[in-house]
Amino acid sequence: MIPTAFKHMDKNGFLPKGIKCDQCGKELSGENGPRPAESYAGSFTGLCYSCQNGGPYIVKEHFDGAITRSYPPHSPSWRRDREEQTGYPDCPECNGSGRKYHDQPLSRGGGYYGYCEPCFNKYYNHPLRKVYHEITQTVGAHIYGKYENMFHAALEKAGLPTVKSDDLTDEQKQKILDIAISLLEAFQTEDRGACDKLRSIYEEGKTGDHKKAIRQMKKAAKELMK
Ligand SMILES: [Zn+2]
Ligand SMILES: [Zn+2]
Repeated sequence: MIPTAFKHMDKNGFLPKGIKCDQCGKELSGENGPRPAESYAGSFTGLCYSCQNGGPYIVKEHFDGAITRSYPPHSPSWRRDREEQTGYPDCPECNGSGRKYHDQPLSRGGGYYGYCEPCFNKYYNHPLRKVYHEITQTVGAHIYGKYENMFHAALEKAGLPTVKSDDLTDEQKQKILDIAISLLEAFQTEDRGACDKLRSIYEEGKTGDHKKAIRQMKKAAKELMK
C-alpha cells in the first residue's frame, strides 16, 4: 500500500480523490474535506475516522488460546494506526486484553497502552511457534547462502568480478544479470518449497501433537539443508 500511496500523492502530499475506507467502503475525506488526515499520505491508514477509532474487535484466535484484538490508536493525533495486541484469556495482568496501561505524566506524553509482557512472552515462547520460527529462519538463511555461493562460483567461472565494481562493461553487466536470473527461479522454487513444507507440519501440529510436530520440523530441516 505504501509505495502505491507515495507514487500517487500530489504535491501537497494528498492521495487522489475517490479512495474508499478498507473497512466500511465509505469514501475518505479529501484535502478540503472535514477530515483531511484520512487521505493525507503521511497519516493514511486506509481507514476512515470512525473505523479507525471504532472499538476493539477480534482479529484472530490462535491454536493455543491466545486472542489477537485490534484496538483504536492510543493517541490518534500522533499516530493513526490501529494497534494489535495478543493476550491469553486467563492472564491476571491484562484479563486477556493483551495490553497494559503505562502511566506517565502528561509532560512526557501522558499514559499509553503497551503490550502485556507475560502474554507476549507466553505467545513467542510457545514451543511449537518458537521452533517453527527458528527453523524457518535457519533453513531460509541456509538456502539463501547456498545460492549466494553458487552465484559467486558462476561469476568466477565466467571470469567476472565477484565483488561490486563500478567499472564494468555493458557486456559484463549483462552476463552478471543473466547468471543472477538463471539462479533466481531455482532459488525461489527451493525457498518456497521449504517454507511450504515447514508450514504444513506447523499447521498440522497446531491441532495435533506439538512434540511430534517439532520432531518432524527438525527432521525436515535436516533434509532441506542437505
Ligand atoms: Zn470506514
Ligand atoms: Zn496478559
